[in-house]
Amino acid sequence: MTVNTFHSTRSTTDSLTAKQAIRKGIAADGGLFVTDSLGEQQVDLGNLADKSYQDIAVDVLGKLLPDFSDEELRDCVAQAYGSQWADPAITPLKPLGDDYVLELFNGPTSAFKDVALQILPRFMTKTVEANSTGDERVMILTATSGDTGKAALAGFADAPGTGITVFYPEGQVSQVQELQMSTQSGGNVAVCAVRGNFDDAQSAVKGIFADEALSERLAADCNTVLSSANSINVGRLVPQVVYYFVAYAQLLSQQIINVGDEVEFCVPTGNFGDILAGYYARRMGLPISKLTVASDRNNVLFDFLSTGVYDRNRDFFTTISPSMDILISSNLERMLYYLSEGDTDLIAMLMKELSVTGRYEIPATLKTAIGGIFDGGWADEDQVKTAIRECWDANHYVIDPHTACGYHVMTHTEADPLTPRVLLSTASPYKFPRVVNEALGLDTPESDFSCMDVLSAATGTTAPKALRDLESAEIRFHDVTDIDGMPRYVESVAEQLNK
Ligand SMILES: *Cc1c(COP(=O)(O)O)cnc(C)c1O
Repeated sequence: MTVNTFHSTRSTTDSLTAKQAIRKGIAADGGLFVTDSLGEQQVDLGNLADKSYQDIAVDVLGKLLPDFSDEELRDCVAQAYGSQWADPAITPLKPLGDDYVLELFNGPTSAFKDVALQILPRFMTKTVEANSTGDERVMILTATSGDTGKAALAGFADAPGTGITVFYPEGQVSQVQELQMSTQSGGNVAVCAVRGNFDDAQSAVKGIFADEALSERLAADCNTVLSSANSINVGRLVPQVVYYFVAYAQLLSQQIINVGDEVEFCVPTGNFGDILAGYYARRMGLPISKLTVASDRNNVLFDFLSTGVYDRNRDFFTTISPSMDILISSNLERMLYYLSEGDTDLIAMLMKELSVTGRYEIPATLKTAIGGIFDGGWADEDQVKTAIRECWDANHYVIDPHTACGYHVMTHTEADPLTPRVLLSTASPYKFPRVVNEALGLDTPESDFSCMDVLSAATGTTAPKALRDLESAEIRFHDVTDIDGMPRYVESVAEQLNK
C-alpha cells in the first residue's frame, strides 16, 4: 500500500506519509494536509457492537494513518484512552428524551478536545523515527479559544522531545478555563494571553508558521521545529473520527439500531474539526444521513450553508460559548477539498480570496453537494440559556453552553422518527458553572468555584475533581503580549527550552 499520499488542500506537489504530515502540521502553501485515499478502506460495521473504544480506535486509526504499525497504534491508544478518563466507555452514549447524547467530556480537562489531544503527543513521539534529525524538539504552537489550550497542555506536558506554547485571547475565556491553563505544570510548557480575539491570535500563529526566517533561526539556534496542535493537524483530526463509530457501536449494542441503519449527528461547531471528523467517518462507511452544524451567534457557517457565500466581514461576538466564537473555520477547507472532488486550484483560489477580501463564494454544484450532507442552525445567547433550562427540565440532564447550541438546533428541527439523532456533548457544564447556574435560575456567587458547589447541590451532579481543585492550584503564568509580540514570545520560549 502506498503510504506517502498526504498533500495540501491547495496543491498536489507534496507526497508525505501521515507521520510526516503530523509532524509538519500545516502545508508550506498554507493548506491543510489531506489524502485521496480517505475512504478506500471501509470500516466493518458488522462486528462493531462488541468492540471496546480502544479496539475501534486501533481499527479506524489504522485506516487513516497507514504508516503507523498496528503495534504503534495499540501503544498510543492504550496510553491515551486509559484511567485518565472518568468513564470506562471513554465516550458514553446516553438517552436524552427521544434522542441521544454522546459525552465527549470525560477526559482530564473536561472538554472534547481531550479525545484528540491525549493521543496526538503519542503520535508525535512515534514520528521521531520518521524524521531525519532525531534529537530536534517539536514545539507545539497553538492559539486557543479556551479549550484546546488546556487539552494540548495536558497532553504535551513533559512529553519527550516536545515543547508547547499556548496563546489565548485575554479576557475572553472563562475563569476556570484561564486557571486551567495558567496553573499547568510541566517543564516544557508556556502560556501567554494575547491582546486581541481568537481569530487575531490564530491568524498570527499561522503567520508564525509561514515565517521562514523565524523557522530558520529556531532550527539553527534552538534545534526546534514548530508544529501545530490545532485541529488543522491531521493527527488532531483523525482521533475524532473514532467516536462516531463508537456512538454507532453503542446504538447497536443497546439494540436501538441494526447494522446499516442510518443515524444523524448534531455537532456544536467552531473550527469545523469535530463535524469534519463525522464526514470522514461517513466516507469510511458509517451510515450518517445528516450532519448538522450547530453554531452560536457567530453564525458564519450557517450563512455559508444557506447562501454558498463565506463572509467573515461581520461583527465578532464574544459569547457564553467561547470555544465556538470563530469567524474563520479552518477545517472547512478540507470539506471543500473533498466535496469539490479534490479541486486544489479551486481551493487555492477560494482561500486566497478569503485572505484578501475576507469572503468567497463557492460554485453552485459544490453548494448542492454540501447541502446533501450538511445542515445548519444556530442559537443566540438567550436561546442557549433557554436550552440549558429546557434540557434540565425535560431530561434532568445538565448541559454546557456549547452543547446547548446543539440542543437548541436539534430540538428546533423536525426529527425523522426512524433515524436516531445523536447530539455531541463537547464540554462538562462545570467548565462554565456561572452561565449554567444563571440559565437554571440558581445563585451565582462571585467565584466560579462557589458556582460549582451551587450547581452540584441543586442538580445532584458532581464537579470533575480536576476542575474543583483549581481553586487552590498555584498560578505559574502571567504573561501577556500584543499580537505583534507573538513571534518574539515563541522564540524566547524555544531559547529557554534549549538551555
Ligand atoms: C472546540 C470546541 C467546540 C468546537 O469544535 P470544533 O472542532 O472547533 O468545531 C465546541 N465545543 C467545545 C466545548 C469546544 O471546546
